[in-house]
Amino acid sequence: MLLFRLMTAIHLKRLTKAFGETLAVNGIDLEIEAGDLFFLLGPSGCGKTTLLRMLAGFIEPTSGSVYFGDKEVTHTPPNKRNTGMVFQSYALWPHMSVEENVAYGLKVRKIPPADRQKLALKALEVVQMAHLATRKPNELSGGQQQRVALARAIVVEPDVLLLDEPLSNLDAKLRLEMRCEIKRICSTLGITTVYVTHDQKEALSIADKMAILKDGQVHQIGSPSEIYRSPNSKFVAEFIGETNFIPAKRTDGGIETPLGNLTLLGTASEDTVTCSLRPEAIAVHASPATTNAFSGKCVETIYLGEVAQHQVQVSDALILRVTEVNPSHEGKIGDTMYLSVEPKDVIPLSI
Ligand code: ATP
Repeated sequence: MLLFRLMTAIHLKRLTKAFGETLAVNGIDLEIEAGDLFFLLGPSGCGKTTLLRMLAGFIEPTSGSVYFGDKEVTHTPPNKRNTGMVFQSYALWPHMSVEENVAYGLKVRKIPPADRQKLALKALEVVQMAHLATRKPNELSGGQQQRVALARAIVVEPDVLLLDEPLSNLDAKLRLEMRCEIKRICSTLGITTVYVTHDQKEALSIADKMAILKDGQVHQIGSPSEIYRSPNSKFVAEFIGETNFIPAKRTDGGIETPLGNLTLLGTASEDTVTCSLRPEAIAVHASPATTNAFSGKCVETIYLGEVAQHQVQVSDALILRVTEVNPSHEGKIGDTMYLSVEPKDVIPLSI
């Protein structure tokens, strides 16, 4: 294992980047805890890459500041920040062996040749590529090349690791494998990592925390389950996972909706206008349920084995998506479906 120094927290204060009229990053305050695997997620153009590049030092902020630990690095050049970066394209040198590729950054830092080789092999061990150290990049699969790119980034023992869509060039199976690898490597090394992706499953499955961005601003920060189970806005609920929105108004005991009065955990705010019900949070019953119960006509069913996806017409104007886990029957179009939702899964929203 590489020897890591004290872990580094990242602190952004009112960080802003304007490109002409466009505020790519708009006054972001953010604290990333030391050792966290932290994801930046959001729709295209929300400012993820600009933010990551300001952390790397490739883009100078218009205003605001960046701290690594107690040290302000806002205007520190990229080569003095001690960050490691992995991009979408692996960008390995084709004429160098795997080991030489990994050792290159150490050579630039004037580490003696004997130590370079030792450290490069250690980094390759971490990514489980030491046995292929003498190969050239074109003799490796995409996943293996991405492991080498990762070894190259960690070999210099960066304070902060920055990953920009590192898996988007890999096929679906390799992505799954590599996401677990990245999690393992980051937690083994305890390195603070900021990871930009479009892939919400990637983020949900391995993030310690994530920030959801829109129009250059952070809309919510939390653990994957906090973001998924307690979105603070319609935008976040819709961006992460699938959901049903139904009109809602606060009442004394819960909320009033076209499905009837629903009880929830806690109290809805006065400005509640809608409510999010995840398709998998809606339970299917053989006969009418008791709490938060409603029914509808099945208008479409897609049977997928472990789940069935139903479209259920619950009122003239409202069709709900319902995901039934371990479905015992395939369901028939036109059948009445008895449904319910637990109070903890009723999420009232005001915006
Ligand atoms: P994507 O997911 O599509 O990569 P993103 O969230 O990474 O998007 P950014 O690349 O950070 O978004 O861009 C944020 C905004 O800043 C966009 O409106 C983009 O057009 C603009 N922008 C980014 N770089 C520049 C630049 N060099 N000059 C002008 N505008 C830019």
